[in-house]
Amino acid sequence: MTQLALVIDLNVCVGCSACVTSCKEWNTSGEAGPMTDYNAYSRDPTGTFFNRVQTFEIGEFPNTQTVHFPKSCLHCEDPPCVPVCPTGASYKREEDGIVLVDYDKCVGCKYCSWACPYGAREIDENQRVMKKCTLCVDRIYDTSLPEARRKPSCALACPTGARLFGDVHDESSEVSNAIRDEGGYQLMPEWGTNPANHYLPRRKQRVQIQEEDLKRIDNPLKDENFTKPGADDATLEDSSWI
Ligand code: SF4
Ligand code: SF4
Repeated sequence: MTQLALVIDLNVCVGCSACVTSCKEWNTSGEAGPMTDYNAYSRDPTGTFFNRVQTFEIGEFPNTQTVHFPKSCLHCEDPPCVPVCPTGASYKREEDGIVLVDYDKCVGCKYCSWACPYGAREIDENQRVMKKCTLCVDRIYDTSLPEARRKPSCALACPTGARLFGDVHDESSEVSNAIRDEGGYQLMPEWGTNPANHYLPRRKQRVQIQEEDLKRIDNPLKDENFTKPGADDATLEDSSWI
């Protein structure tokens, strides 16, 4: 069975949010829209997004890293949001594995958002229906577009190529190759163990600081040759999960 998905390389994402804005632009004017925006230019903006990038720090000083974590529906192979839906509005398509919401059947009860382990569903306060990423189903099959453009808008917008799109069950696809190259995919452990873990592992970056450097950090102004430990001191350790 085909299982379309996004595979996101956390090593490559720079947190620019190009995927967030391109998603909002495409989908607010597409079949899944409109996507509400309240107080967009005020201090307290709110609204519906299918894709958000969460940025946080891990590790303990001085061995810390900033993680940019793009978050959208993973179109789970066995989606917990579907069986809890009392009206059948949430469903998974057999032909391509995409999980969708039928707005005409959704009653906005939010059961699915409680069941989703990834926080991928958002209620549209205006239409009172649940919304989430559709994998741009209204453009990936649009034959009026050149074939290379038939991808989710986030994947097209990403300037670093962090977002790959394709069939994870097709062994020759770009996404399958990426998963094989990285030795498998895994989600942040604290986010649950659902089988749809379409995130490539983030390699551990360990900044090696020597004792000499630490003395300089204590009082750098006294050392003319002081240079802050940085990229030159970093080493990449492959195959280490966060
Ligand atoms: Fe459902 Fe959440 Fe899985 Fe998407 S990520 S299919 S909303 S459980
Ligand atoms: Fe990360 Fe790409 Fe989204 Fe930018 S567009 S935040 S690099 S996934």
